[in-house]
Amino acid sequence: MKTFFRLIGLTRPFAWWMLLAAFVGFATVGSGIGLLMSSAWLISRGAMLLPVAALQSGIAGVRLFGAARGFLRYAERLISHNTTFRILTRLRLWFYDALEPLAPARIASFRSADLLKRIVDDIQSLENIYSRVVAPPVTAAMVTALVWGIVSSLSTGAAIGVLGCQLIAGVFTPMAAAFLARGTARRIAGMQAEQQLLAVDMVQGVGELRVFGMLDKHLARLQAVEEKKLNLEKKAAFLEGVQETCSGLAMNAAVVWIIWQMLPMVRSGSLTTITLTALVFGVTASFEAFLPLNGSAQHIEADIRAGERLFEVIDAEPEVKTPERPAPFPAEGGIEARNLRFSYPGSGRPALDGVSFTVPQGHRVAVVGPSGAGKSTIAALLVRFWNPSDGILTIGGRDIASFEPETLRRNIAMVSQRTWIFGQSIRENLQLARPGATDLELKAALAAAGLQGLLDRLDDWAGQQGTNLSGGERQRIAIARMILQDSPFMVLDEATANLDAITEQEVLDTIERTSEGKTVLAITHNLHRMERFHRIVVLHEGRVIEQGTHDDLMRADGFYAGMWRLQHETEV
Ligand code: ATP
Repeated sequence: MKTFFRLIGLTRPFAWWMLLAAFVGFATVGSGIGLLMSSAWLISRGAMLLPVAALQSGIAGVRLFGAARGFLRYAERLISHNTTFRILTRLRLWFYDALEPLAPARIASFRSADLLKRIVDDIQSLENIYSRVVAPPVTAAMVTALVWGIVSSLSTGAAIGVLGCQLIAGVFTPMAAAFLARGTARRIAGMQAEQQLLAVDMVQGVGELRVFGMLDKHLARLQAVEEKKLNLEKKAAFLEGVQETCSGLAMNAAVVWIIWQMLPMVRSGSLTTITLTALVFGVTASFEAFLPLNGSAQHIEADIRAGERLFEVIDAEPEVKTPERPAPFPAEGGIEARNLRFSYPGSGRPALDGVSFTVPQGHRVAVVGPSGAGKSTIAALLVRFWNPSDGILTIGGRDIASFEPETLRRNIAMVSQRTWIFGQSIRENLQLARPGATDLELKAALAAAGLQGLLDRLDDWAGQQGTNLSGGERQRIAIARMILQDSPFMVLDEATANLDAITEQEVLDTIERTSEGKTVLAITHNLHRMERFHRIVVLHEGRVIEQGTHDDLMRADGFYAGMWRLQHETEV
């Protein structure tokens, strides 16, 4: 229930619009009641073969209520849909706003398909909470009051019976259906999420599944989930059908009750047959207000589940917070790590265990070490994807936590191991690094990154996640972005890992040229031309085990020298 009220609370700015939608909904059903009552009156009077003049008010009523009903139904749909879509827009913006500071640390635990479902489907499904859960009960309550007013003015006994039938159709039946279907909507939502995860995995990994002959097995899993979901949906549909039948029976019971209660009044002459007929039709029409309540209780359950899934993401505490009074980013200074310690959540082993090094301004420092030593973790801490558990990272002598994270990241150009290429044109992918860059600037960056082949393909689609580009081209796009970003600090995480030896040399030359005068931290497995680095930091199991120039380390004949020799001997 807390989630329900929280979701309702989010719509507070639209409360008046929602009330208006409910009121226009009431006016629509009211017109329907008026239409049926005046029609009944007209037909009954017409059957008495009265002159047309005596039927004028009935004809006017039918025209007025008939036209009003159509117009009001349109207005009600317009207002309620407009309000719902505004609410959904607000929810999406609110969700994105809340999500952004959580990336990447706090959302790493969510699978991408699951997150996508939350952003798209869960928010979309909240449409129901406003269009099917909030407004219809308000409309139904107003219609109940109207019918009570009309019927009780003639017979309190009849009015009580009608009210009872309305309560059965509007309260008891939906609640009973919700009770019987409890957990179904929640399980359907769970199945949908699982189905989506499997489908996304299958589409993305179809190549591997084919190669290993596992496609059929994966499809069978997908089908099993689909069947389970279908059975649950059948149950929900059956209960909705039963609910509709019960509402219909309640409506008929109300009609029988009125006739039974009021027939003596007709016999005694205190009520005309025409009035009774009109009343019966009016009460029948009033049940239209209860139709949207069918399934609303099930929707509440599904919507609450969707809300819980959204709040689960939203309520996560951001890993990185913007300081209240951010310090200005220093114009000068190098990078210093002092006694850095860090463990990934849920990991028993520290990724970094007391790491200290300095990268003086304008120097190039390499971080080397075996796989899993913690090299990329240093880069992730430097751009504040994560905060160190202990120790400090400074730039220009100031703790990087004192800067605005965006400012920090703007000043550090980073080429990571996994370059993300958006499903847009190559131009748009490059302009990420420098919005508004001219074609001349983009082409210069492409050429410098060794991508001469793409110079005339700026408008080509890069493919979903860069599938239209080779691994090496994707990596060089990242280097072109870094060149365009032109920041004083550069972090290169295996920037040339996917390149052939000749291109690698060319790209390294470019990086060397573009990094002239900049402060560079380069993470690398490739121990070639290590003399170009002012300093080399050797990392092993999260600790710095050696550091110095290439010559120093070779002379020391330690871990680095061993790695270097192994690499060079293997290549001979
Ligand atoms: P490589 O050369 O293979 O890229 P690396 O030296 O860059 O390795 P890191 O990526 O920094 O190593 O990882 C250091 C340790 O932290 C590894 O044991 C790794 O399994 C673990 N690790 C890395 N990223 C995560 C993560 N997001 N969640 C949990 N553990 C992680």
